[in-house]
Amino acid sequence: MAAAHLLSAEGSLGDRTRLGVLGWPVAHSRSPQMHNAALQAVGLSGWRYQLLPVPPELFAETVAALPQAGFRGANVTIPHKQTALALADEASDAARAIGAANTLVFDEHGGIYAENTDAPALIDALPFSPEGRTALVLGAGGSARAAVWALLAAGASEVRVWNRHPIRAEELCAELGAQLVADAGPADLLVNCTPVGLDAEPAAFKQLPLEADELAMFECVVDLVYAHGETPLVQAAHALGVPVVDGIDLLVGQGAISFERFTGRSAPLQEMRTAARAR
Ligand code: NDP
Repeated sequence: MAAAHLLSAEGSLGDRTRLGVLGWPVAHSRSPQMHNAALQAVGLSGWRYQLLPVPPELFAETVAALPQAGFRGANVTIPHKQTALALADEASDAARAIGAANTLVFDEHGGIYAENTDAPALIDALPFSPEGRTALVLGAGGSARAAVWALLAAGASEVRVWNRHPIRAEELCAELGAQLVADAGPADLLVNCTPVGLDAEPAAFKQLPLEADELAMFECVVDLVYAHGETPLVQAAHALGVPVVDGIDLLVGQGAISFERFTGRSAPLQEMRTAARAR
């Protein structure tokens, strides 16, 4: 049975003012505070955005029940992004190419449209266009797939991928057209798509193929991870004066595009940034 306690009959297909983020675990997510601030800022005061903690075995039936329970859409995070795409009736070309969706929009008949807003959010957040530039991506999971696809689609001349288990990176590279590497080397961009740094552990760099002072090899460091305080990667980049895009910048970017799909309103970026950075 679907996660019934999350779906109390607050709404219906005709009156859909509910949004949420599906994940397992998802308690750490800052999406509710960010989206609720945005809803308030644009005057959608009757709308609500909530956590939807749903385990994998209940994911499909919970998603199927959301429109009838008054949901207009939902964000999707670990570990459901691939399943979310598979459940959709329609999907954007980007979501299909990446193989994962982080945004589901329900139509008035309960149909499901899937999109990946992580990919455009990365490109929008960069301080320069990746066209003709090189990038080193750390990781080969769902967000690395979105990053590699987005960078190549935006014209990057070469995207290299390092992963702890090279076999996974090998598959990603073959599928998306990136280059497998065994070590870090200079590039215009570094994009961390591993969760290393989430716990602000001092040994973070031991889990990655580079040392803190080697971040000077990059023109910009992007860290998808957001934690309480700066991640070790962000801290090290700041210490070297290397421009940084952090995990909250990306959270706001992907959330803003999702917000516009859910509500049809322009996203109030400043309010979203402030709410996402509040503890
Ligand atoms: P996945 O689980 O799909 O992939 C995780 C990747 O990280 C794999 O390549 C895995 O390598 C690698 N990895 C995991 N642990 C370690 C470790 N200890 N040392 C080195 N490599 C490791 O996760 P996602 O791609 O979905 O997410 C990755 C991170 O990005 C998460 O922390 C997530 O919260 C964050 N994220 C942030 C977003 C934002 O908006 N700020 C958006 C999306 C993601 P292996 O294959 O060897 O296991």
